[in-house]
Amino acid sequence: MVQRKIRERANFSSRTRKHNFSFSGFVKCGRCGTAVVGEIHKGKYIYYHCSQSRGKCKEPYIREEAFAKILGKPLKKLVFDKEIIDWMIAALKESHKDEKRHHKEAVEGLRKQRDRILLRLEKMYEDKLDGVISKDFYLLKRAQYEEERDRIDYHLSQHSNANLNYLDTGVDLLELAKRAYSLYLQQDPAEQRKLLNLVYSNCIFKNGKIKVEYRKPFNILALTRKEIQQIKDTSKEKIPESPLMLLGRDLNPQPSG
Ligand SMILES: [Zn+2]
Repeated sequence: MVQRKIRERANFSSRTRKHNFSFSGFVKCGRCGTAVVGEIHKGKYIYYHCSQSRGKCKEPYIREEAFAKILGKPLKKLVFDKEIIDWMIAALKESHKDEKRHHKEAVEGLRKQRDRILLRLEKMYEDKLDGVISKDFYLLKRAQYEEERDRIDYHLSQHSNANLNYLDTGVDLLELAKRAYSLYLQQDPAEQRKLLNLVYSNCIFKNGKIKVEYRKPFNILALTRKEIQQIKDTSKEKIPESPLMLLGRDLNPQPSG
């Protein structure tokens, strides 16, 4: 039974590997609302098209290479200067202040519990020496207290890890954002899909253009740019890109050439 399941799974994975449509299901057609899926043409060319499960759709087929290029475009908008990165990291740290306080309180509570247990163990040992409690009772209680102490130690280690990871993940993602587009260009479609999963949600494809929403903390980029634009507007300075472009909206429909 188990072996059959393993065999089935192996068959399934070899079948999917044969035609690996990395971008299947990631994007919705902006015309008919169905998922954009991959299919193979002439046995080797991968094309993408909406599934047309709600009837025929006029959105044309697109080759995987061209589709990948278009999908990567919103990543370019994540290129920004050091000033903005620093601002965002500061904002991230600020937003985690409450979280950090919560961790601090939890850790202090656990340490107090731990100290109490160590005191009890010590006192109990003296009681045993004084003959106030029996050896069997002492061994039983000691095992209980030591188990309790180990449990607290485990929670303490969890807290310190959680605390560190929490901020690091955000900062790592920002570092990634800086070079997301150049990274994307070097990757194969499967890796590209992973990167896009990390950065985008709600992708819409229409007229050969992609609209995306950015996931956290990439979405903070948009907010911070807005703030920067407001500041620059008031100081009558121009900002090269509108913050709304970070949300994937095409604010520059005129041909640039
Ligand atoms: Zn469609």
